[in-house]
Amino acid sequence: MKSYKVIEFGKPLQRVDEPTPSPKGTEVVVRITAAGVCHSDVHLWEGFFDMGGGNKYSTARTINPPRVLGHEIVGEVEAVGSQATGAKVGQRAVVYPWIGCGQCWYCSSGNEHLCAQPQALGIGKDGGFADHCLVPHPRYLFDYGSVPTELACLYACSGITAYGAVKKAVGNDMGKPVLVIGAGGVGLMGLQFAAAVLGRKPIVADIDPKKRELAMQQGALAAIDPRDKDARKQILELTGGTGVGAALDFVGGEATSQFGARALARGGRLVIVGLFGGTLSVPLPMFAFTGCQYVGSVTGSPAEMAEMMALVRAGKVAPVPVIKRGLDEADAALQDLRRGMVMGRAVLVP
Ligand SMILES: [Zn+2]
Ligand SMILES: [Zn+2]
Repeated sequence: MKSYKVIEFGKPLQRVDEPTPSPKGTEVVVRITAAGVCHSDVHLWEGFFDMGGGNKYSTARTINPPRVLGHEIVGEVEAVGSQATGAKVGQRAVVYPWIGCGQCWYCSSGNEHLCAQPQALGIGKDGGFADHCLVPHPRYLFDYGSVPTELACLYACSGITAYGAVKKAVGNDMGKPVLVIGAGGVGLMGLQFAAAVLGRKPIVADIDPKKRELAMQQGALAAIDPRDKDARKQILELTGGTGVGAALDFVGGEATSQFGARALARGGRLVIVGLFGGTLSVPLPMFAFTGCQYVGSVTGSPAEMAEMMALVRAGKVAPVPVIKRGLDEADAALQDLRRGMVMGRAVLVP
């Protein structure tokens, strides 16, 4: 098999050729047909997350190079272990990558994505910047119906991340307009899931005029520049003077979370999703003054993946733009994403 691995943090991904693994027990080998490049791959490749105040959280122990990144994987089952019941050779599937230890309280309560000893594909285990991938159990394979392959892979991270975030707005947004912050790969999915799940097109905020234009093409109610002096006024005008019922921050930076917090209606909910980094400082009386809620969101559970894929297969979720690149362009695609030059989602095709 061929893969592109992180050998050293911050250095170009390197091509490695090695024998394709053979599946044992419940394992399945998937021949990859497409893999998305996610913004968290940039942080994982850099080797740290920005925790604010000059503090960094190292990804060295999690990634433990050499490692194949890429957690948005779609492919075809090529080989199955002797106990991999339910998986068939030739079966096409999106791979759920947020795999846990399988033993702990989180894993046994169906919340594998919250496991403290994660075994996520493309993070702690080898992932999708490759032509093959080892998946520990057929239960992580999800049917994608007639959805195009290159689009299907995106539901493994940008899809489930956006869906998980939008679900946190359900019942907490008081039926008011919702704000999506950031119109990158995940934010555009957030736009589509807000429309599909809440039945309302969201307001989108992005500092990049091209991304705002793309958000409008994708059906946003309005697209605003959060750096505009009157950005908050624009939100009040769009929401009948109250602010938004929920703000989904798909950037997760200091400026974006502050912007989301200031855009909220009374009782509104800020959902923080992105990993851009920094810290958020909040005057504590604001919680009791306004009844606002701040919550975090991390991908979604296998059950949520099943729910989401049912919506996707039923054609209820509009597609987001996909930019196809060859697997050999893995490093270039990662660098373009780091520089903010990708409109939609880059997908590597082996
Ligand atoms: Zn991701
Ligand atoms: Zn666990």
